[in-house]
Amino acid sequence: MVRILEEYAKKNNVPIMQKDGITFMCEYINKHGIKNILEIGSAIGYSAICMASVDSDIKVTTIERDINMYNVALKNIDDFNLNKQINIINADALDISLDGKYDLIFIDAAKSQYIKFFLKFTKNLNDNGVIITDNLSFHGLVEDDSKTNNRNTKQLIRKIRKYISFLKENKEFNTEFYQLGDGISVSKKS
Ligand code: SAH
Ligand code: MG
Repeated sequence: MVRILEEYAKKNNVPIMQKDGITFMCEYINKHGIKNILEIGSAIGYSAICMASVDSDIKVTTIERDINMYNVALKNIDDFNLNKQINIINADALDISLDGKYDLIFIDAAKSQYIKFFLKFTKNLNDNGVIITDNLSFHGLVEDDSKTNNRNTKQLIRKIRKYISFLKENKEFNTEFYQLGDGISVSKKS
């Protein structure tokens, strides 16, 4: 069923999670009995739909700032009959404040703002919760930026490297890095 979403994403260049990345995350959710999830960056709702489908008592709150993406996600969530499990908010994640607590916070939005997202939403994380971040490899460019000369891309690579250092130096969290999908980190409170 989610194949339809994968095909739509491919056709329309929507950067949804890669197969092995989403598989890893769903297995993690299943294994650790994660029930409350906050996602930053819904796009077309693909990852939210995959995560909510792991178990019928999982709740996902997902934030998307782009109105067109939001509308597509809304329709997809409806098509998958997941309205009761997924709450999508149309806003810039940096402009809103949430008071819920989550077992998992998934950061998958503007790469230049990863540190801000992390710092802002840490207060919404349960004590034994985790923060997972996607795209830390950025098509392998973070490890080897010789493949690009584009200034904006270089700038983004610098930002991602900064975020990786921030995670490595963060004493409140222990982070593990996985060479899966487009590069994933899992951060737990120390
Ligand atoms: N998680 C999705 C893919 C998200 S792509 C999946 O794997 O299926 C990243 C999305 O984040 C884009 O749709 C973009 O519009 C959104 N985004 C970027 N910055 C944001 C912000 N500050 N607040 C909310 N959404 C943001
Ligand atoms: Mg991503």
